[in-house]
Amino acid sequence: MSSSPVSPLPNSVAPVSSTKPGKLVVFTGPSGVGKGTLLQQLLERHPEIHLSISATTRQPRPGEAEGQHYYFVGQDTFKQMVAAGQLLEWAEFAGNYYGTPSEPVYQQIEAGRWVVLEIELEGARQIQQTYPEALRIFILPPSLAELEKRLRARSQDSEAAIARRLQRARIEVAAADEFDIQIVNDSLDQALQQLEQALFDG
Ligand code: 5GP
Repeated sequence: MSSSPVSPLPNSVAPVSSTKPGKLVVFTGPSGVGKGTLLQQLLERHPEIHLSISATTRQPRPGEAEGQHYYFVGQDTFKQMVAAGQLLEWAEFAGNYYGTPSEPVYQQIEAGRWVVLEIELEGARQIQQTYPEALRIFILPPSLAELEKRLRARSQDSEAAIARRLQRARIEVAAADEFDIQIVNDSLDQALQQLEQALFDG
């Protein structure tokens, strides 16, 4: 691992406001729903928002970079992070562990910035307990059939992994009502518009 999951803030981080508190936004939705693309667009339009980088035991996919998409760690390191209380939340997903390093999140929020977590359902439920003031947004696919199509089109995962992700997707979609806001990602532009409304007009 080339950098630590609890590494200090990059130099470019500047407080949005020294008086207003930051905000924690949780972004959840089944694998393949297009959360990543939606978030990428949001961050391009609002570069002041900080996206939390998770630690995971999953192998990097082609094109994924250490410290940019994830901190890729071994199981032992992940377990040590859990034991040391370094994760704000964590969960097992489709055979791998994923978790949010807490330190950078608190630092950013203290600096008055908005922080987005892109995490699965179990982690979002933990945040509801530990950080109830977080705004929790659920991204829905137009249908489960469409979701399966998108997962296959991505063709980054094995058949077995796709099957596990689809099974998990059914469970996640059934829990969408637990969230403050639900957005259907049918057209990317419309979903982005609804997301901006939820964040900035709320
Ligand atoms: P992927 O392997 O496709 O990158 O991510 C699988 C799932 O893990 C996605 O639903 C993603 O939102 C979720 N995930 C990514 N990072 C975290 C994390 O730090 N905590 C939790 N609970 N879920 C995460």
